[in-house]
Amino acid sequence: ITQLLLENHQYVYAAIGSHNVRSQARAIAIAQSLNVPRRHFEMQVLYGMGDKLAKALVDKGYRVRVYCPYGELLPGMAYLIRRLLENTANSSFLRQNLENRPIEELLAPPNIDLSHAEAQRRREEGEFVGVADTDYAEESAARMSTEAFAAVRQQLGRTYLPLVNGEYLNTAEFVDSLNPSNFSEVVGKVGLLSVEQAEEAMRAAKAAFPGWKKTPVQQRAGVLRKAADLMEARRAELSAWIVLEVGKPVKEADAEVSEAIDFCLYYADEMERLDAGVIYDVPGETNRYIYQGRGIAVVISPWNFPLAIACGMTVAALVAGNCTLLKPAEPSSVITAKLTEILIEAGIPKGVFQYVPGKGSQVGAYLVNHADTHIIAFTGSQEVGCRIYAEAATLKPGQKHMKRVIAEMGGKNAIIVDESADLDQAVVGVVQSAFGYSGQKCSACSRVIVLQPVYDAFVRRLVEATKSLNIGEAELPSTQVGPVIDAKARDRILEYIEKGKAEAQVALELTAPAQGYYIGPVIFSEVAPDATIAQEEIFGPVLAVTKVKDFAEALAVANGTNYALTGGIYSRTPSHIQQAQTDFEVGNVYINRNITGAIVARQPFGGFKLSGVGSKAGGPDYLLQFLEPRTVTENIQRQGFAPIEGAE
Ligand code: NAD
Repeated sequence: ITQLLLENHQYVYAAIGSHNVRSQARAIAIAQSLNVPRRHFEMQVLYGMGDKLAKALVDKGYRVRVYCPYGELLPGMAYLIRRLLENTANSSFLRQNLENRPIEELLAPPNIDLSHAEAQRRREEGEFVGVADTDYAEESAARMSTEAFAAVRQQLGRTYLPLVNGEYLNTAEFVDSLNPSNFSEVVGKVGLLSVEQAEEAMRAAKAAFPGWKKTPVQQRAGVLRKAADLMEARRAELSAWIVLEVGKPVKEADAEVSEAIDFCLYYADEMERLDAGVIYDVPGETNRYIYQGRGIAVVISPWNFPLAIACGMTVAALVAGNCTLLKPAEPSSVITAKLTEILIEAGIPKGVFQYVPGKGSQVGAYLVNHADTHIIAFTGSQEVGCRIYAEAATLKPGQKHMKRVIAEMGGKNAIIVDESADLDQAVVGVVQSAFGYSGQKCSACSRVIVLQPVYDAFVRRLVEATKSLNIGEAELPSTQVGPVIDAKARDRILEYIEKGKAEAQVALELTAPAQGYYIGPVIFSEVAPDATIAQEEIFGPVLAVTKVKDFAEALAVANGTNYALTGGIYSRTPSHIQQAQTDFEVGNVYINRNITGAIVARQPFGGFKLSGVGSKAGGPDYLLQFLEPRTVTENIQRQGFAPIEGAE
């Protein structure tokens, strides 16, 4: 921004306010290179904090303004304390300067965002670096997005059929997938697989398994990398499909495409790592610890991350050498049809991957119970997950193995705000976590547990901040809260809101447009920890705020549900932060930031208790669940070589 400001010095008078010598020096260098007259910009430092820097700048002939707060005492003090906190942070230049760090370190360029070239270099060195989201501030990106929406709109209402053994099969039953922002718009018609056709898919998978299992890992990983490239090329279009089919705001849909791409790239790397196996030789004996695919994987995905989660589970199963059947959630079957197109184009052999849209209770249950299923990778509600777990445990006639179930389920995620929290930060983080994608992320915050000394101030500010959210069609760039997925979800959430009104106080209830499945954000205050709205997953823009007397109680309340998915804490008390790391019972703990938006490899994701069984998606243990480990030991002492005629 410094460059941009100084390039426009004829129109804008820039004030460079910083106590970081490097930032000031950079501004001077830019000004010099552009020949900006010295009177066309100024440097600013706060009185008492940068006196030496100010003097040095003046000595060099630059105009410096030394400023200080003026007026009422309390806001002035608050301002100064904020600056003090900032400047005493470990990462602050001023603090590091006082610690006598080496000059080279102090003046090193900041490395916040990886440039494209740098990311590429690191990838070539074997490091996993996730792909970048779209920067919609770039005019060209915004234009591409608009064009993608126009192109996708041209294709609305088309029919999508199941893919079985490399062929698209006609079906007897169809279901319309609707745009939740405007349910008169049919996004696509999806053919629903019958049980007989599901059986056909099973047979095809069984036939394809021996070949796929033996396909070299590099080749399997190559399919994933190709799929990643194809998704990157179709990024704007895929985002548009997500926005229109499941009502996710544009920026979040774009981040979901990044996640899907990252899953492909990460699991490809991971499988190559595992494929090296472990060698443990002793004289006269070789030992190899190796992995092989398990067999047939049934992937059952939810609608809320229709591309990323479906893609992640599917490509993990595939790269590990399993033939995979993908059964998407009914409201998001068009996006998974797009994923199917991509996998075909990436070269997945027929029968190895099959797209089997259908009713969960019918085709889903049939595949779960099938004697030939080896792995079930499920993400969805606790109710369905527990049922699948039980069904998979029962041996079926002819079944010669135990099934492996990976079930990622719901959450009742809490954020704790203690008395030392920076409320500016906490309010923003809670609003984003609770109302992003209308509270329909599994990681969404649905409870805030606030310590009594800051409770009133926090609730007041939370309510005001929430009022500022834009509610509307997911497609509009300004939208922060879109619709919920369908009429059933809307009615269920409204029932919870009614229940909440009987259990707690309404701190805020916003209105919402009528021509879609909209629900305005609702905040309940003074919620008892055992209230229904504080215990059950609502999966909508409904937030319960609970008051507690101390930090111990906050942790007890946070841990007091059946779930353990994500959780967060806003605090500046080191002992609280430390305790939260060990005692907050959740799979992902976030400290002083929002609790959604986990990134592949950086924040491997998943919960425990009734939030899930399985290792974290996007983490180093994930693929192991799709593999059968084997140990091969050979006695190589005094073994002669005796070729058999005709054998290789
Ligand atoms: P859901 O449980 O209703 O459906 C999930 C999938 O299961 C769908 O494909 C559905 O068709 C299928 N299904 C339904 N009944 C079945 C049966 N009897 N046998 C086999 N399959 C069956 O969940 P949803 O509404 O799609 O997704 C929302 C839920 O998913 C929330 O609870 C959310 O917390 C959870 N979720 C969890 C994570 C995580 O990583 N832990 C991620 C995303 C979503």
